[in-house]
Amino acid sequence: MLTGVRIVVLGGDARQLEVIQKCAELDATVSVVGFDKLERSIPGIEHHELEDEVLASADVLVLPVVGCDDQGKVSTSFSDLPIFLKKEQIAALPEHCIVFTGMAKPFLRELCVDNGLRLIEVLDRDDIALYNSIPTAEGAVAMAIRETDFTIHGSECIVLGLGRTGFTMAKTLQGLGANVRVGIRREEDAARANIMGWKPFMTTDLAAQTGAVDLLFNTIPTMIITAQILSRMPQKAVIIDLASAPGGCDFRYAEKRGIKALLAPGLPGIVAPKTAGGIIADVLIRLLLEEQNAREVEL
Ligand code: NAP
Repeated sequence: MLTGVRIVVLGGDARQLEVIQKCAELDATVSVVGFDKLERSIPGIEHHELEDEVLASADVLVLPVVGCDDQGKVSTSFSDLPIFLKKEQIAALPEHCIVFTGMAKPFLRELCVDNGLRLIEVLDRDDIALYNSIPTAEGAVAMAIRETDFTIHGSECIVLGLGRTGFTMAKTLQGLGANVRVGIRREEDAARANIMGWKPFMTTDLAAQTGAVDLLFNTIPTMIITAQILSRMPQKAVIIDLASAPGGCDFRYAEKRGIKALLAPGLPGIVAPKTAGGIIADVLIRLLLEEQNAREVEL
């Protein structure tokens, strides 16, 4: 239980509702800022404005998955009022307060360092990235279905990268009956692909692989689908680039060649905010319970 833990949730999107709900269910005291337009009520939470006294009593400050921008602007889907996290607000937090977010920008990192606050960024944790790969792959499949006039079953699919997202992407396509090839750069990934029943190839040979492809899913966060690669691809092929912006595709040239290429960022939050929020909430709760246990052992 999180009885006695004071959590302040500052802005965010539908994912944050899961965090709020799960923490409140575990008896944490949850104060929310920037949720005045929320249409449903969540039992046991208190609505506030961004005031120093709310922050001064916080054990945990939960920021949106994207943190805040470099001007301190905190995005919120449930309020029209802008929220800015400034130096003064961070300074109002007690020393023991944990700042929790998905991925912080330098502005937030610096604020936390300057104030001696512990910042936890969860998006790059292996467990979160792996769980998030599920809604990501489902979202990519949804896009592929929307953008094509053929079934994924029986289609020629290539997945570039066999990391946390690429692996789940390939497995999901295989489950739908696609012929799956994976672009990798390490021999151990070739072995992994063979075990899974996917055909591996080295990304250095990508040009030779794309002559007959229907769907190309990229998870490699570097320019990999170059103009040279695109020039050999069939025009009917669809590229879904999952790598973080700016992606790994020459979108300008793809457009010029008439190949549909789509950058698809943030799919978990878009296609499955409840699941994506639940993944984040579970990690936050586990970390807080571990802290509690560690403190009890110390006493
Ligand atoms: P990851 O586990 O690090 O996987 C990245 C893969 O790319 C690894 O297999 C890596 O190979 C490979 N790679 C990197 N550079 C390469 C290169 N130059 N040539 C060949 N292979 C290369 O990362 P992830 O968690 O799967 O995430 C992948 C990308 O997707 C990231 O940009 C992430 O931000 C993004 N993402 C997007 C969404 C969305 O909704 N669109 C959701 C989740 C993640 P090695 O193992 O050999 O290094």
